[in-house]
Amino acid sequence: MTVKLLIESSKKGNTGIHLPLKSNFPKTDLHQTFPNEWVRETIGLPNVSEPEVVRHFTNLASLNYGVDSGFYPLGSCTMKYNPKINEKLANLEGFTKTHPLQPDFTVQGNLYLMMHFEQLLAEITGMDAFTLLPAAGAHGELTGMMIVKAYFQNKGEAEKRTKILIPESAHGTNPASAASVGFEIVEVKSTNCGGVDVAHLKEVMNDQVAAIMLTNPNTAGVFETDILEVAEIMHQNGSLLYYDGANLNALLGQVRPGDMGFDIVHLNLHKTFSTPHGGGGPGSAPVGVKEYLREYLPVPVIRERNHQITSETDQFNSIGMIRLAGSNFQVIVKAYLYILTMGSDGLKKASSIAVLNANYIKEKLSPFIPAGVPCICMHECVLSAKDFAPYGVQAKDISKRLIDYGFHPPTNYFPLIIPEALMIEPTETESKETMDHFIDAMKKIVQEAKENPSLLLEAPHYTPISRPDEVKAAKDLNVTY
Ligand SMILES: *Cc1c(COP(=O)(O)O)cnc(C)c1O
Repeated sequence: MTVKLLIESSKKGNTGIHLPLKSNFPKTDLHQTFPNEWVRETIGLPNVSEPEVVRHFTNLASLNYGVDSGFYPLGSCTMKYNPKINEKLANLEGFTKTHPLQPDFTVQGNLYLMMHFEQLLAEITGMDAFTLLPAAGAHGELTGMMIVKAYFQNKGEAEKRTKILIPESAHGTNPASAASVGFEIVEVKSTNCGGVDVAHLKEVMNDQVAAIMLTNPNTAGVFETDILEVAEIMHQNGSLLYYDGANLNALLGQVRPGDMGFDIVHLNLHKTFSTPHGGGGPGSAPVGVKEYLREYLPVPVIRERNHQITSETDQFNSIGMIRLAGSNFQVIVKAYLYILTMGSDGLKKASSIAVLNANYIKEKLSPFIPAGVPCICMHECVLSAKDFAPYGVQAKDISKRLIDYGFHPPTNYFPLIIPEALMIEPTETESKETMDHFIDAMKKIVQEAKENPSLLLEAPHYTPISRPDEVKAAKDLNVTY
């Protein structure tokens, strides 16, 4: 199906609206008021009827694929189902018809919700204080790195502590965030399970190291068993540990980053706490710290004083404002509702099933596509398609063929330490039947790869666009039609 642009369907005289034939406004000659080149004779809107517009957008919407259309095993992104009741409640007028700059006494309910939510996150993560301001994981990392910098500035060590350690398996946003704050990145080698190579960590350790950024489970989906030793090495050196919480879905209710020795964490509400993301909505990434870093949190901070909840900007030592006004409040409301409806037992069950589901897929598929690391996985598993090279087939070809079978592909080529990586994260919200359909499709594709690889190389076959030129799209981007 090729989709025409509305402007291509335009036919002079067609219209979806009726304007009064006679205008009450006096006619003005724009050419007399403005230079000629500023005056447009037409604004170039398509001439189309109402049904044409409705059909155009309805058909476009049906081309989209989301977690509401089917299985979406995009590793590291935690595309779990977003309960609709949370959407409905977050749309109550008391939440939607308030403004971030309204006086505090008029929004006590919203402020209470945020304050309580901060306390719940502190309990879940083992941290002492939270800010709800950052709008995405990467923004949380940036905030965390600014806190690291402010902490060492305050100690008079900013000149010396210039380095951030990052494992070679890390998500790309980690080094980008640290570099944005002016830190120098030092790579730490990974073990064959994607973990921190402790021997190498000791080698690169010195008094210039400000912090290490880690995610646990690591990006290969494996629990970092040496984390307590890593924390000890860092703290003995006066350095901090930053936790990239994007993988918290594996640990909810089981263990807490605060207890592992992390000093600063960010959480991705849009991953772990079931709020829509990707095309479905904005993100939110609260940042939590241990007590001794509380004073550096960005402003405004939410406090309770004399039975009034206030949102205050007068925090000495704060890194300041990291965005204009408020947080992504509706995202917070949905995540808050998710935590309250799940309860502590529910959250623990969610992470247990998330891990079980990922291991189920790994066990079923690894005889056909070998696992990328020889270790038990947590909430996601990484397979390596490197054995398909003799057929001219790469990881991306398997993914493109999956689209023909009606599934969203897994994450490809991440983490970088695993060749031809296919990273699969089913999440806890998928049934065994759904996973079995996916596993069957993958097995069929493996068979096709050996018998008829062109089926994969030319896939997807049923989408409006099959294979865009990715290099050209990146290097020679042209977003005008
Ligand atoms: C998703 C993710 C991030 C970044 O989060 P955004 O909200 O996309 O900015 C960082 N680290 C890891 C491991 C992630 O999976």
